[in-house]
Amino acid sequence: MSRVRAPHLLAGVMTALLLIVVAGCGSSSSASAPQGTLKVVATTSFLRDIAQNVAGKQFRVGELIPIGVDPHEWQPAPSDLVTVVNSDLLIVNGGGLEGTLLQVAQNAGGHERVVVASRGLAPRVPKPGEPGYGQSTEIDPHWWLDPIDVVTYVTNIRDAFIAADPAHAAACRANAAAYIVKLKALDAWIKAQIATIPPANRVLVMNHLSHGYFADRYGLRVAGAVIPSVSSGETVSAKQMADLVKTIDTQHVKAIFVELDENPGLADQIAAEAHVKVITKLLDHSLSTASGPAPTYLAMMRYDTQVIVSGLR
Ligand SMILES: [Zn+2]
Repeated sequence: MSRVRAPHLLAGVMTALLLIVVAGCGSSSSASAPQGTLKVVATTSFLRDIAQNVAGKQFRVGELIPIGVDPHEWQPAPSDLVTVVNSDLLIVNGGGLEGTLLQVAQNAGGHERVVVASRGLAPRVPKPGEPGYGQSTEIDPHWWLDPIDVVTYVTNIRDAFIAADPAHAAACRANAAAYIVKLKALDAWIKAQIATIPPANRVLVMNHLSHGYFADRYGLRVAGAVIPSVSSGETVSAKQMADLVKTIDTQHVKAIFVELDENPGLADQIAAEAHVKVITKLLDHSLSTASGPAPTYLAMMRYDTQVIVSGLR
């Protein structure tokens, strides 16, 4: 689970990229596409879906990180970098979620083709009683779990599409506006769902510190996390585990929530000692496949909210 970077892979990828750029695939006019054939790739599946809603039928948005893969742990393969270099735009979440990829893409392709969806959103600071309060300098990248922050994602993506493909500006504006209406409806729906949880039970313990923005928006409290970090790729000490057992006990926490793409081993150990349930069905870092419960960002947020509400009620 420790976060190990692969410098040899990175070096190989950068060499591959340099060769591609020198060979001319990354031409200087790559940020403007002819006749609506903009080639766009997003890192995660939820970003792909959000961007596709803004693009509408004008062009298709691809994704780099496969469905079900934890983006915190993902490392780009050389073939992913080839995809990036051959694209007009790369949409990233930002906030450190795509550390290695962003560094390599910016080195190779320049800044103009990278769209940081979260640009302009302020990073969250841990609140009193939360892990890292007064100490943590980590940037929390999980803005997408607050649909009102995703309105900013949509406007950033819309503006990048219009700049790269002005011929379809009107359609992009209309698509973005229609999607923002859906995000606001989702926000109202989540509020109503959370209101059905008894106030004393509105306490979250996740596998890592993923739900700070969600908690802030909907009036929940973050009591702790199995991995007390905004990334799932950090190590945990025995003392941190013992402290969390105590927190769960004294604050009468109802459940520990683990994402489907994460290893529930540590959560299971803590839950056994603290006598709470572990709910391993959350999907918040990846959509499901088309036949699953969360093939779109909107469906993922509804699905996760239902899992959280039924776990805490
Ligand atoms: Zn996360």
